[in-house]
Amino acid sequence: MASLINCPHCSARPADEFTIKGAVLKRPKADANAEAWMDYVYLRNNPRGRHREYWHHTSGCRRWIIVERDTATHEIFGTFDAALGAPAEVIL
Ligand SMILES: [Zn+2]
Repeated sequence: MASLINCPHCSARPADEFTIKGAVLKRPKADANAEAWMDYVYLRNNPRGRHREYWHHTSGCRRWIIVERDTATHEIFGTFDAALGAPAEVIL
């Protein structure tokens, strides 16, 4: 994995300062059935390749960011402030 993560708030920081919290998934609508919520909360895929994850800058600014990376090569394609979201054209 890359040893430096570019936090949108703190600039390049060691990866040890962050905690990976999970894939960015499309959230079901509030009135979705129980099966949709079960899939969203508990039955997550573990994708190989390029995808997005929520990361928490635990030992830094303590803000949430979105990291787009390849889980096979660990190449990082971009980091975004999670409060602002990632550019829609890149959502996978
Ligand atoms: Zn930060």
